[in-house]
Amino acid sequence: MKLILLGAPGAGKGTQAAVISRELGIPAISTGNILRAAIQEGTPTGMKAKTYMDEGHLVPDEVIIGIIKERLAEPDCAKGFILDGVPRTIAQAEALEAAGIKFDHVVSLEIADATIMERMSGRRVCGGELVTRKDDKPETVKNRLAVYHRETEPLKDFYRERGVLYPVEDMGPVEATSKAILAILRQDG
Ligand code: AMP
Repeated sequence: MKLILLGAPGAGKGTQAAVISRELGIPAISTGNILRAAIQEGTPTGMKAKTYMDEGHLVPDEVIIGIIKERLAEPDCAKGFILDGVPRTIAQAEALEAAGIKFDHVVSLEIADATIMERMSGRRVCGGELVTRKDDKPETVKNRLAVYHRETEPLKDFYRERGVLYPVEDMGPVEATSKAILAILRQDG
């Protein structure tokens, strides 16, 4: 099964991707995680991506398309995969389509910006310590939400036209949202 999790930053895509991955036995692939690892390792791709990420901007499409194609060619993706945080632009979606990848389900996590802002402000202080993700700062979160609405939300129409879009309202508790997503995936096989 080939899936995409769409949703604003802070909507809980990573958390839900991990649950689905465990339940369905397919890998969850996050371009954000791949890029953060590249920054840690100090690779040229990481260096190039860092300034964009720190500001909450999107990393250029050609960088992302290269990364994701390379990752999907690995053997653990043969039986399917869940994409978390990619595609984020129409150009990325078109590149995946041009590579012959057909998605079975595109689950769009629906959540209000205000709820995300509230959650992010809670997430910054964790056990008395400030969580160090630079792009969790309120100004950056606002910017990332604007980028989401402008660049990524149009993907809903793109996948709706292909008959594979499944919107899921955020239910509050993680488990309730997971249940709603898994029900959709199992129902449609
Ligand atoms: P994430 O962990 O998915 O929220 O990604 C963190 C940051 O990495 C984003 O704010 C972007 O700067 C960059 N990024 C991750 N995935 C993509 C993508 N598919 N396209 C462009 N930029 C991305």
